[in-house]
Amino acid sequence: MKKYPIVIALDGTSASGKSTNAKLVARALGYVYVDTGAMYRTLAWHCLLKHVDVNDEKAVAAACRKWKTKLECAEVNGLRAVRLLVDDYFPEKEIRLPETAAAVAHVAAVPKVRAWMKKTQRDCIQFGDLVMEGRDIGTNVFPETDFKFYLDASLAERSARRAADGVNENLAARDQRDSQRAVAPLMIALGAKVLNNSSMTSAETSAWLLAEIRKLMSVEK
Ligand code: C5P
Repeated sequence: MKKYPIVIALDGTSASGKSTNAKLVARALGYVYVDTGAMYRTLAWHCLLKHVDVNDEKAVAAACRKWKTKLECAEVNGLRAVRLLVDDYFPEKEIRLPETAAAVAHVAAVPKVRAWMKKTQRDCIQFGDLVMEGRDIGTNVFPETDFKFYLDASLAERSARRAADGVNENLAARDQRDSQRAVAPLMIALGAKVLNNSSMTSAETSAWLLAEIRKLMSVEK
């Protein structure tokens, strides 16, 4: 029997093509796209703005307890996507700044932050069927979903992809922090289908994902 709403969990390392492919898959299926990394980045940006030390676990947890947020589903160029607003503002550009990227893995390692994010991310189901990308969607946020995927690519390829976007970042350091944290570390979910797309285009990666999703859907019918 098909379970509704459907959640497609897309996890993987930084710059492994999760965002591009999650959007392509969401468009193809008419599902709502959820970028959970953007939610962690929003908290990191908020902490920086409020001069909260991102290395101070208690202070970050307190900021997360107190901030005023709202989830909304916005349609942009035909893609429905969930946004986390803070004080009614979506910091779209600010969350991509290098200082936010450098701070995000610190706030993401705080257990109380992860608990808050998990609840908020599960609340996204109110918007319908989802394609949700992140680091712990298949392992922790929606472990019950049958649609679990894990993307990876070589460090050289991932760094080249970020550089092509004009972003120079120490991806290895962020991946290491994400993989080694105590709560919900980055890892391959049990039963996840894994793809190393180092030598693949996004068109090829999304075609592979869609074919695998359709196979799983036909088994579920
Ligand atoms: O995907 P993106 O690069 O925007 O994620 C930013 C950071 O947010 C990750 O490096 C990680 O520290 C954190 N994150 C997480 N769990 C998720 C999504 C993102 O810990 N589900």
